[in-house]
Amino acid sequence: MIPTPFDYARATSLDDAVAKLKASGGRAKLIAGGHSLVPLMKFRLSEPAALIDIARIPGLSGIREQEGRIHIGAGTVHHDVASSALLRDKCPVVADTAAQIGDPQVRHRGTLGGSLAHADPAADYPAVVLALDADIHLKGPKGWRVVKASDFFKDLFTVDMEADEIIVSVQFAPVRAAAYAKLHQRASRYAIVGVAAALDVSGGRVESARVGLTGAGSHATRLTAVEQALAGQPLTPAAIGAAAERAGAGLTHVNADIHASEDYRRAMVPVFTRRALEGALRRATASTAGRQRSGPSSSGTRWR
Ligand SMILES: Cc1cc2nc3c(=O)[nH]c(=O)nc-3n(C[C@H](O)[C@H](O)[C@H](O)COP(=O)(O)OP(=O)(O)OC[C@H]3O[C@@H](n4cnc5c(N)ncnc54)[C@H](O)[C@@H]3O)c2cc1C
Repeated sequence: MIPTPFDYARATSLDDAVAKLKASGGRAKLIAGGHSLVPLMKFRLSEPAALIDIARIPGLSGIREQEGRIHIGAGTVHHDVASSALLRDKCPVVADTAAQIGDPQVRHRGTLGGSLAHADPAADYPAVVLALDADIHLKGPKGWRVVKASDFFKDLFTVDMEADEIIVSVQFAPVRAAAYAKLHQRASRYAIVGVAAALDVSGGRVESARVGLTGAGSHATRLTAVEQALAGQPLTPAAIGAAAERAGAGLTHVNADIHASEDYRRAMVPVFTRRALEGALRRATASTAGRQRSGPSSSGTRWR
């Protein structure tokens, strides 16, 4: 189908984009990669009167480390996240996840900010930002606002963001002991079920864990029963397996569609939770072994 007619303007700066959004009185939409918005417009499920293109705003994309935290600009495309040497070194789960999104065309156009703002129930990044306990930095006419990932995803395609706000960046403390595992839909690669797990490890024990789930419900959510079951446990496959069994607890609504029934998704949630936790365990173990090889003084230290 052909979209309804719309105006188009390219924003030259963040302030320009905010001003244009405010001036539209809710009738305009931002466009970044267009890989979620344009399909909706073609189906006439979204009919904005104007598009404000933010893809070329200087400084809205890029990945850097500042004072021990990773900052990813909202306009950063999935390919750049997947191929970031900084992320591969400090927080490989983010790069791994980006590499599993869609196909090369999608990864070269789609952006982190677009994915989070759109909040598709089957999108990958939401699970990861939940597991990393990331902060989402927004700018609007009233100024800056920071929303914790755990407060951001509210419902189906619904997030804590005003119509005139822009996601500017996502910031988090890097965690090496983290992994993402997904059962993907074969054609699009969207998650039928996707789980991201991040472990804080100290002295061979899980100090705390954060586990984010996508694909199963109306929006991404933390698996708190698994997190609680892991806290204080030894860093062993047995402890991880037992905690993963709790993954279905507390899931009230589980999606059913042409790709998977509710029962199938429910069955897959603990399976992919275990796989994500095992991936995080492997990274924690490899990191500990690497530090022990580099000297006895480093053994028993805390590792995230
Ligand atoms: C064939 C195909 C396969 C895909 N497979 C996957 C997959 O496997 N996993 C996955 O997670 N995703 C997948 N996607 C979605 C893809 O990752 C999208 O690129 C992404 O969800 C949206 O990013 P975008 O930059 O294209 O956003 P756009 O389509 O430009 O915008 C989406 C929405 O976000 C808003 N928006 C954009 N940027 C901002 C911002 N900075 N601040 C506030 N609002 C903003 C827009 O106004 C719009 O409402 C797939 C898409 C396609 C077409």
